[in-house]
Amino acid sequence: MATKTRQHNLAAARWSANGSALGASDLTDPATGIFGESVFSPAVQKARLPRDVHRRLQDTLEHGQPLDPSLADAVAKEMREWAMEKGATHYTHWFQPLTGLTAEKHDSFFAPVGDGTAIAEFSGKELIQGEPDASSFPTGGVRATFEARGYTAWDPTSPAFILDNPNGAVLCIPTAFVSWTGEALDHKIPLLRSMDSLSRVAVRALRMFGDEQTMRVLTTVGPEQEYFLIDEHFYYERPDLYTTGRTLFGAKPPKGQELDEHYFGSIPERVLACMLDTERELQRLGVPVKTRHNEVAPSQYEIAPLFENSNVSSDHQQLTMLVLQNIARRYGLVCLMHEKPFAGVNGSGKHNNWSMSTDDGQNLLEPGDSPTRNLRFLFFCAAVIAAVDRHQELLRASVASVGQDHRLGANEAPPAIISIFLGGELERVFKAIESGEPIEDSSGNFLGLGTPVLPPLPLHGGDRNRTSPLAFTGNKFEFRALGSSMSLGFTNAVLNTITAEQLDKMVDTVEALREEGLDRDEAVLEVVRRAWRKHSRIVFDGDGYATTWHDEAARRGLANLPTTPDALPWIVETSTVQMFERYKVLSERELEARFDVVAEQYATKLNIEAEVAASIARTMILPAAIRYLGEIEAAGVGALASGLRLEIDELIARLGDLERVNVKHPAIEGLVLAKHMRDEVLPRMNATREVADRLERLVADDLWPLPKYSEMLFIK
Ligand code: ADP
Ligand code: MG
Repeated sequence: MATKTRQHNLAAARWSANGSALGASDLTDPATGIFGESVFSPAVQKARLPRDVHRRLQDTLEHGQPLDPSLADAVAKEMREWAMEKGATHYTHWFQPLTGLTAEKHDSFFAPVGDGTAIAEFSGKELIQGEPDASSFPTGGVRATFEARGYTAWDPTSPAFILDNPNGAVLCIPTAFVSWTGEALDHKIPLLRSMDSLSRVAVRALRMFGDEQTMRVLTTVGPEQEYFLIDEHFYYERPDLYTTGRTLFGAKPPKGQELDEHYFGSIPERVLACMLDTERELQRLGVPVKTRHNEVAPSQYEIAPLFENSNVSSDHQQLTMLVLQNIARRYGLVCLMHEKPFAGVNGSGKHNNWSMSTDDGQNLLEPGDSPTRNLRFLFFCAAVIAAVDRHQELLRASVASVGQDHRLGANEAPPAIISIFLGGELERVFKAIESGEPIEDSSGNFLGLGTPVLPPLPLHGGDRNRTSPLAFTGNKFEFRALGSSMSLGFTNAVLNTITAEQLDKMVDTVEALREEGLDRDEAVLEVVRRAWRKHSRIVFDGDGYATTWHDEAARRGLANLPTTPDALPWIVETSTVQMFERYKVLSERELEARFDVVAEQYATKLNIEAEVAASIARTMILPAAIRYLGEIEAAGVGALASGLRLEIDELIARLGDLERVNVKHPAIEGLVLAKHMRDEVLPRMNATREVADRLERLVADDLWPLPKYSEMLFIK
């Protein structure tokens, strides 16, 4: 279509202006000393803070003590000076409300002094605590109206950084967001609390293995982010995309995903420049990106950083999504983070590579080279397997959202049934432990697994199964069921907490067995054996997409929770509440708040989608079809006209039906409303779309009001 091609050329022209402005030197190796230059990193802190201040700050962080106000003043002063040298004029407490996005409220460093001038100020108090106008963030009823305030609290364990905006730079201080009654209103607090609990329990387990050194165990996360980039002109022409993040209409293009190998590796120049710019910006912000340029669907890409501790990684993930979206606009592109922007084309997810590490960097999910290390590995690994089996529904619920319903349990990866892929070798080891029989390793040696003495485990990380929601990949678990737009916070809080609970149980049992007279290694092996026997039903190495797996999973008693309303109740199940309260991660009230927020967001988003769909159908698609009908009738092509008229009538009927169910329902709310939206509204949206997509294939292209899939996906 002529107009669209012209617009695309404009966008391309704009990008080349940008591209040349970058200059060749800017496009050189990103490892040129820019890494972390916008971060008030531990190294910067060490170099700039007075020595005693730095030492006291380190002590406070290491021992988790409350922060001394004089210390906060000293840190704030240095932080402000550093930020102003970098051009910052404002600061903000950067936090992650339950919307899943990040929020900022900018305050100036400058305060008037009464004589018409202003001086730069930033006290320890302002560093430690902020008061955003929080009444408009979702709280799930935690905050009654009389206490309609929340506050943000500095998280000194995630370094402050500077975000460049067109009108200046802002110092961003990572903070937690709490109500005045101390309840978590964000995604950071449960994550931090879960990391503390897991650490406490994991250290307990390590002591059992004779490790007296480790003081803290950190969970680590390396997220892989999928996203789409499309030309911004198409985006502006699609009310569905700019209001809901996904296309609500669009016929499958003649050239679809089946050809995706054709596109693999050939990244258009504009996209590549955008990626390099994004990488560079992220490097400045201290995000250790190592991009992968591969694409699964047309116009789909992926970015992956090196792993970091879960809290920093989660903050960095949030920054990555922000920077991806901001930089894309400089290149006339729009970055789509939605889980399913295009029907019939692969959606976007986020892979959460997860492990546990001691404070001196030993990965606890790495099979070791000594018998004790291996026993330790098997113990921690068995704990994860058992924990995931025990709380599979909760884990499923932790990744539930309206966008995710198009992926999980639908026709693409991964299935809504949670299972674990271990790889043949590790599975054989666990089976051998269960049966007490020796097995042969790949080098022909026998592993005497019946005895407590284990030789090195010959495991290869190369074993892969792409259909599994949770795969052991050699030295970590990769949880692949997260949605592309999600915060890492809650899912990782769940992973950490269920593992803490299970480790605790298993250490208790080891201690009980030792009192019965077993030696440590025998007791540990026995506990691993019992965990495997009870929970190995969760382990599955077959094709997770096959329909036979659904039957098999049902036989094994595994949960299949295909939609968000199916999964959500597990957030407030007794087993969840008891565990979260016991490990002090979230109280019952805080869990209920989260449940309410997700249920409400689900219903609200579907309601908005349905309104946008109805409006597009009524004011864009229907008029186009009617105009075309007029042209056909004027031309006297009767045969064409009758077919078209039937489709138009059908569209009007289905549209009316959609509008009828998508109205205000004052009497229902929460999960009931969510189910109504899922069962009544969504199917009618799909039914309306079906006819509209048929019309897209009939109506003259120059009359069609929306950019088509083939344009959005293939014009780069
Ligand atoms: P692949 O074979 O898929 O390339 P990598 O070893 O490169 O595997 O890791 C893939 C992802 O897993 C990366 O994002 C990486 O940071 C992350 N990762 C690696 N080790 C760990 C770990 N111990 N904990 C958490 N994430 C990890
Ligand atoms: Mg992956």
